[in-house]
Amino acid sequence: MLQTQPLPFETALAEHRFFKVICGASYRNYDVIRWLAEVFTHAGAHAIDVGLDVGSVEAAVAGIRTAQAAGAGGDPAVMVSLDAGGDVHFFRIRLDRPECTDCGICLPSCRFGVFDLTPELQLEDQNCTGCRDCLPVCPTDALSLQAWGDAQDYAGLLEACWAAGARAIELHTGSGDEAGVQALWRLVADQRARWPLISFSVGDYGQGTEAVLALIRRIVGWAGSGIIIQVDGKPISGRTGVESTLPALELAARVMALDVSAFVQVAGGTNDLTGSLARERSLPIHGVGMGSFARAHLGLQAVHDPSQLDRWQSIQRARELVLSVHP
Ligand code: SF4
Ligand code: SF4
Repeated sequence: MLQTQPLPFETALAEHRFFKVICGASYRNYDVIRWLAEVFTHAGAHAIDVGLDVGSVEAAVAGIRTAQAAGAGGDPAVMVSLDAGGDVHFFRIRLDRPECTDCGICLPSCRFGVFDLTPELQLEDQNCTGCRDCLPVCPTDALSLQAWGDAQDYAGLLEACWAAGARAIELHTGSGDEAGVQALWRLVADQRARWPLISFSVGDYGQGTEAVLALIRRIVGWAGSGIIIQVDGKPISGRTGVESTLPALELAARVMALDVSAFVQVAGGTNDLTGSLARERSLPIHGVGMGSFARAHLGLQAVHDPSQLDRWQSIQRARELVLSVHP
């Protein structure tokens, strides 16, 4: 019988060394997305996670092809994210212009260099990750977050993203509203054959751990085996140190104790310590996704023009993170 070769991400998941770089569901700086895709393809990543946006998919594919043309052997899957409703990853900064006094207090609060005060406050909102750090510092409440994706034509966008080269989908379960998640799943299930990698992103955003675990059981019941459960710890944080990554690992331990037939990958606060801490705790996670920390590790937090960076050094730094999952 003809044996089909497993896809690169299938092998990596089975071997507990899957690595995904997360560009962000609401992030739209195409130069940075292209750069992350290029250097992480060289570094051996298995997936590049972007928003449900044709420009983002095209940027990721262009980065992957550039790396392959330069000799990289990997072929990561480009993953697009959909929101079941109110998920924190789908928000971006909004300025209420009349309320803003151009005081500049918000400038240092943003790690991602979104604010520019020349001479009045401008937002480079394509660089916003929706981390919320700036919201409490504004004395006039001129800043807020605006949801992306409401009333989007998901079927049409999925079709366009597939045509642009996306091959993986992530369904963000948000506050855990089961009807919303199931509606999204029905849309994806109808076209499952064309999406070899499907992930559900699940976190405790106030609904409680037991509710999260119950939802995961039901998701695996609908979707069957072979899916990824992305366990989200501290969303869009990505700081250094143990404290940042522990919530993801603690929730992952509860999810793995369910013994469901799904791969468990952690994200949200993940960093270069996540893999070693999981090994110390004998927690056999199948992979790690990294977003804010990966960007900072490459020097791309407040730098929006990757041409200022050294390509070789960026590849080395990306490689450190990929290997941190499973040296
Ligand atoms: S802190 Fe608020 S009022 Fe001051 S510049 Fe920023 S958005 Fe405007
Ligand atoms: S601090 Fe976070 S939410 Fe605020 S503008 Fe910067 S990236 Fe966006």
